[in-house]
Amino acid sequence: MAQPGLVYGTMGRIEPLLEPCILPRFLDLDQDGKIMAEYVWVGGTGSDLRCKTRVLTKEVKSVKDLPIWNYDGSSTGQAPGDDSEVFLKPCAMFRDPFRPGPNLLVMCDAYEPPRDLPDGKHVDMKPIPTNTRYACALAMEKAAKEEPWFGIEQEYTLLNSTTKWPLGWPTSGYPGPQGPYYCSAGAGAAIARDIVEAHLKCCMYAGIQISGINAEVMPSQWEFQVGPCVGIDSGDQMWMARYILQRVAELYNVEATFDPKPIPGDWNGAGGHCNYSTNGTRAANTGWDTIQKMIAKLEKRHAVHIAGYGEGNERRLTGKHETSSMDTFSWGVANRGASVRVGRSVPVEKCGYFEDRRPSSNLDPYVVTKLLVETTLLSD
Ligand code: ADP
Ligand code: MN
Ligand code: MN
Ligand code: MN
Repeated sequence: MAQPGLVYGTMGRIEPLLEPCILPRFLDLDQDGKIMAEYVWVGGTGSDLRCKTRVLTKEVKSVKDLPIWNYDGSSTGQAPGDDSEVFLKPCAMFRDPFRPGPNLLVMCDAYEPPRDLPDGKHVDMKPIPTNTRYACALAMEKAAKEEPWFGIEQEYTLLNSTTKWPLGWPTSGYPGPQGPYYCSAGAGAAIARDIVEAHLKCCMYAGIQISGINAEVMPSQWEFQVGPCVGIDSGDQMWMARYILQRVAELYNVEATFDPKPIPGDWNGAGGHCNYSTNGTRAANTGWDTIQKMIAKLEKRHAVHIAGYGEGNERRLTGKHETSSMDTFSWGVANRGASVRVGRSVPVEKCGYFEDRRPSSNLDPYVVTKLLVETTLLSD
């Protein structure tokens, strides 16, 4: 399936289309005392990440020093062409591993601009419909005294960007059955580790609380974890960690997909397990009791959670391949076939956290963390 003019390497990699030796000639030029801030936001599909660079002339000490900006929402499916301006509000900033120095990555959320109506009324900036951060931040504020912590496990699959077939798989064929790949080392088992390793270092440099990486059950599937993060930080950091992955994979001309079941059949899907705890669950002696009460609440709102836990999750949550069934809620200690898993140590230590295994890899962390907080802390 090779295209004319493209050379395939051993991993199904396509050699860069541009000569890679030229850009480095310019990277050491000084930047005239200015800062490059890469504004990043979630686009109209709810899963596409968009970005553009703003050159700033003033020092940036905190996210409050970053100006509100705007973009053409008609090009991202987020506004009509005749009223296309969408405002970008900086929410969280990170060091930029792609442009070391004083430069920044800036996670933003999106708003309709403020306007003066013909009748003289003034309408303030308000979140656009695809802005899921806004409601999440409100829920996190209401729940702040419980200090909710989240650790999200992000599984993803690396694809040849031309053929859309997993990297390192035989061209139009399949590798050997699952078994040796999970947490593997070695050629043919751990595929494209360079990407995973580069992503890990970039996240650490950026200031993301990345807590680990591992090779997954399906070959060319990997996982990274971000957390524990408190409240709204979890969503901000997870979206930025995904952005960094996209940028690293771009350098290799590889596609990182968050599809929950990239290859149908006897191949594991990709999940986004969300580990969760609060002051209540972490409290010595009483925490285990609190966890059981939370699980009972989650059971009642199973359908509401499933509806918000990722597009196409029904292709993954089949009850096979270490998943639960989509239709019924279940939980268990150390049970990886349940909706919610409680760690072995929790009943022993009588406190800790639990794992909601239902979210798929394309979860919106703002939606998932909001639902968890609403169900377990903000409702009866
Ligand atoms: P698994 O055993 O399911 O593969 P991982 O080790 O991949 O779990 O991920 C566990 C995640 O849970 C990590 O991001 C970790 O930081 C996070 N975590 C650990 N303790 C807590 C806690 N008390 N509350 C919330 N998240 C936690
Ligand atoms: Mn994991
Ligand atoms: Mn996993
Ligand atoms: Mn897990």
